[in-house]
Amino acid sequence: MAERGVTCQRCGASTPLPADLRAATFACAFCGAQNDTAAVVGREAPSADALLGHIAQIAADPANLRAMVQNAPRFEGGSAGTRAASCMRCHAPVAVPLDVTIHQFACGACGSTERVEAYISDKERLDIDMARQLAGNEAFKRLKAEGVPCVRCAGKNAVPDDGSVQLVCRFCNATILLTDHVDASAIARNRLKHGVFAMRDEALRANAANERRTRTLAITVAVLVALVVLGVNLIGFLRR
Ligand SMILES: [Zn+2]
Ligand SMILES: [Zn+2]
Ligand SMILES: [Zn+2]
Repeated sequence: MAERGVTCQRCGASTPLPADLRAATFACAFCGAQNDTAAVVGREAPSADALLGHIAQIAADPANLRAMVQNAPRFEGGSAGTRAASCMRCHAPVAVPLDVTIHQFACGACGSTERVEAYISDKERLDIDMARQLAGNEAFKRLKAEGVPCVRCAGKNAVPDDGSVQLVCRFCNATILLTDHVDASAIARNRLKHGVFAMRDEALRANAANERRTRTLAITVAVLVALVVLGVNLIGFLRR
């Protein structure tokens, strides 16, 4: 992947992304022009922030648990890959999605709605996805061990292990995007993990401080719900 960093679409300056990626646009720190967040960092990390925000809401109001879980935003960390096959109805070439959360696809030629499972078993897709997630985690681990080179000055920087998607070069202040170096879904899973662990730590702190026990319980429930909702996506980094 080409190294891009975060470059303002209007003035070309290297400007950081907002800390909360739920914002659809962000202002350039230099010229103030609005830039498209997803165009820079992709759909994965912003979806992690949306989900973390949703989990925090569940923790604040656990009485609404069922509705909140049903309305949980989708974590966009699935595979973008496909496998070539022939439509079982009309034999035209089709691209079968490898994202394990997608169960149907439409044939572009005959319009038929096809079941993914008729082409690739869910078991095989899960295996393929596990390998993809583990490869992403490994690449991220390597980057953390070796440091990340700056887009502008090539200086090596330490990779922050706090769920960040970006860092500022310690030599030249250019913004370095981690998704320029590692699969965006691995970065997003790491971000999600840090967010979930931060909630857990907050719950433990509240408990230690003898604050309201119900709040601790609510956060714990929310974290458990998150793990269930995200089962597949969490497997990758829990097994390392
Ligand atoms: Zn600008
Ligand atoms: Zn067809
Ligand atoms: Zn630099």
